[in-house]
Amino acid sequence: MPDELTPTAPAPERCDLAVVGGGIVGLAVARELLARKPGASVCVLEREDDIATHQTGHNSGVIHAGVYYQPGSLKARLCVEGARDLYAYCEQRGIPTQRCGKVIVATDPSELERLEELERRGHANGVEGLRRIDAAGIEELEPHARGIAGLHSPGTGIADFPAVARSYAEDIVTAGGSVTSGCEVTGVQRAGRALRLAHSHGTTEAANAIFCAGAWADRLAVSAGADADPRIVPFRGAYLRLVPEKRDLVRSLIYPVPDPALPFLGVHLTRHIGGEVLIGPTALMAGARDAYRLSTVRRRDVIDTLVWPGTWRMLARWWSTGVTELRHAAIRSAFVRAAARYVPGLTVDDVEPSFAGVRAQALGRDGKLVDDFVFSHTERALHVRNAPSPAATSSLAIARHVVEEATRAFDV
Ligand SMILES: Cc1cc2nc3c(=O)[nH]c(=O)nc-3n(C[C@H](O)[C@H](O)[C@H](O)COP(=O)(O)OP(=O)(O)OC[C@H]3O[C@@H](n4cnc5c(N)ncnc54)[C@H](O)[C@@H]3O)c2cc1C
Repeated sequence: MPDELTPTAPAPERCDLAVVGGGIVGLAVARELLARKPGASVCVLEREDDIATHQTGHNSGVIHAGVYYQPGSLKARLCVEGARDLYAYCEQRGIPTQRCGKVIVATDPSELERLEELERRGHANGVEGLRRIDAAGIEELEPHARGIAGLHSPGTGIADFPAVARSYAEDIVTAGGSVTSGCEVTGVQRAGRALRLAHSHGTTEAANAIFCAGAWADRLAVSAGADADPRIVPFRGAYLRLVPEKRDLVRSLIYPVPDPALPFLGVHLTRHIGGEVLIGPTALMAGARDAYRLSTVRRRDVIDTLVWPGTWRMLARWWSTGVTELRHAAIRSAFVRAAARYVPGLTVDDVEPSFAGVRAQALGRDGKLVDDFVFSHTERALHVRNAPSPAATSSLAIARHVVEEATRAFDV
């Protein structure tokens, strides 16, 4: 987190467009709109005292290349475009990135079919430089990793997403927009030819609004008249980190072959832009949408999760994965063993606790964890209903997509 808060402005009484949520997606959307409509009055309303404090500030920091995603999906297209644009943006603004590359490692013959499918998807999605490697190829790239086959994606990299978000906020202010923090939007009402947003500073009447509220997206959408499906269910992702003297166990980014039926990528080892090496994240259903501590439990969040029929359908299908995740969360040696499968030299003495993030994962009434990005609209408003990983990578491309959708829906 930065030492200084991003400056905040008073919330306007009226504006052309209000963006709710000052994470990387909301800020990218406001920035894109101002770039297309110079002179429009655009405000960002963020409930916390600073921008980028939720998912944007608590993640693996990886610029994904687009390997995993179903060809033709929004994730596939917006990740590939978004990564390209993000590298260019960061270079232009002097924000450090490293195109350090990533290795996906199969350790067991049962994973080879899935590795092949990832290769097929990566090529179909246009991921540049993606190639199959053998055991020796893995060791050449990552001397401490072991596997029977792998994929190398040289274009995958790392970035400081909070720094990117702060830069987007500066662009907004430079273009005449405003960012108001400490301003929680609590209700949405139609008011003639506008929307009235009630918030902790009073009200803002906006001709249109775009909601990019991450873990709270479903509540604001329902308040604006949208369907309750899908609901956000928080999944806590805790990280360990390598002690400084063991950081050379990992050169860049090492990932396992994920289960294609789940939207999570498995416990990975990732070098951060600051030099730390993270191990994680876990994926454990949490008792609060801001459960950065395991002990944080909020009554409303728990009730919302438990009364959702999709929760029980999901648990019926994934209970054994849930038990594994619980073990990873509770027993550090089990967590380390998951990563030691492909970096065998790793031991529990090489790690120490690090931070946790909370994924805003949309869960359908049918019990399916929604994989793709989801956008929907209500009158005069567009809602980002599911923007999990790789939405930080994809933020500039998501912003273009959202502004185009909004233009079609209500001529923003
Ligand atoms: C553990 C973890 C690892 C990840 N790793 C990666 C990765 O390596 N690469 C990648 O590309 N992506 C990754 N992601 C995903 C990425 O972090 C998110 O997709 C992205 O940050 C989503 O941005 P956002 O702006 O939608 O959400 P957020 O950053 O969560 O922002 C939403 C904002 O809305 C605000 N808000 C909510 N309700 C209100 C309200 N009522 N009024 C006003 N404001 C409100 C919140 O305070 C918050 O600031 C990871 C996520 C997690 C959790």
